[in-house]
Amino acid sequence: MARIIYVNGRYRPWGEALVHAEDRGFQFGDAIYEVCEVRNGRLIDETRHMERLERSLAELRITAPMARPALARVLRETVRRNRVTFGMVYLQVSRGVRPREFIFSNAGPMTPTIVCLARSMAPANAEAMAEVGIAVRSMPDNRWGRRDIKTVMLLPASLAKEAAKEIGAKEAWFVDEKGFVTEGASSNAWIIDTRGRLITRSVGPEILRGVTRTTLIDVIRQEGLELVERPFTLAEAKAAREAFDTSATSIVMPVVRIDDSPIGNGAPGITTARLRKLFHAVAEVAAA
Ligand code: PMP
Repeated sequence: MARIIYVNGRYRPWGEALVHAEDRGFQFGDAIYEVCEVRNGRLIDETRHMERLERSLAELRITAPMARPALARVLRETVRRNRVTFGMVYLQVSRGVRPREFIFSNAGPMTPTIVCLARSMAPANAEAMAEVGIAVRSMPDNRWGRRDIKTVMLLPASLAKEAAKEIGAKEAWFVDEKGFVTEGASSNAWIIDTRGRLITRSVGPEILRGVTRTTLIDVIRQEGLELVERPFTLAEAKAAREAFDTSATSIVMPVVRIDDSPIGNGAPGITTARLRKLFHAVAEVAAA
């Protein structure tokens, strides 16, 4: 089936879904995005994703392109036109089109560029991956200082994932100059220590506040598990009982190896598997 992509008010066939050459998203990475899981044709945690989108826009002083209900309609229509039952929907907003200039405030307000696309992802593939877990590769964190804003400046993440692939790993975990893990290239990083405590980095400009991370904290509280939000070192991660990462497309993904070190007994951990099972009972499921 031909894919349809929404661009600035129109639903276009894939080959005609074009953005201007002087779009600031293209020239400056001056754009933000969101990715929302689609499950049984419903959007998961839509409210939190929309809240974060609005925060990202506000931080960059990009005009909100439309009100939340209108954006919600675009998301649903894109999912519907692409017949996505399981997969994801991606929404990107750039500052807009203007003759190339670093300063963006000179010629008055700009009209943001909006792109929305949706893609199917077979749930069986994700489940198969979660059954065996993934390997991750540690990489120096060489990204900018405002990782709390979900911008499209994903080149360091893309290169880190390529480096991970070279050693048979599925994800890269970034490590800061002090030896603390910040987060995954496209996920938040978690460990469970030998006392059963769940540890993930506290929020701040160093990491993206993952929506999946936030909802998983709801799950952890509900289960009465102990949560510690603090930075952990790469050495701690390698010695952990369990490790996993979270994102809207992987939910809770067991990590069974970091670089050359197997985590625990080298198989997905029991608590990790349980949290993965519980997640969707707690997450918000939006009407289609
Ligand atoms: N950190 C980074 C750098 C990411 O790119 C992502 C996924 N977009 C996440 C964390 C996880 O965020 P979420 O749970 O909202 O998908």
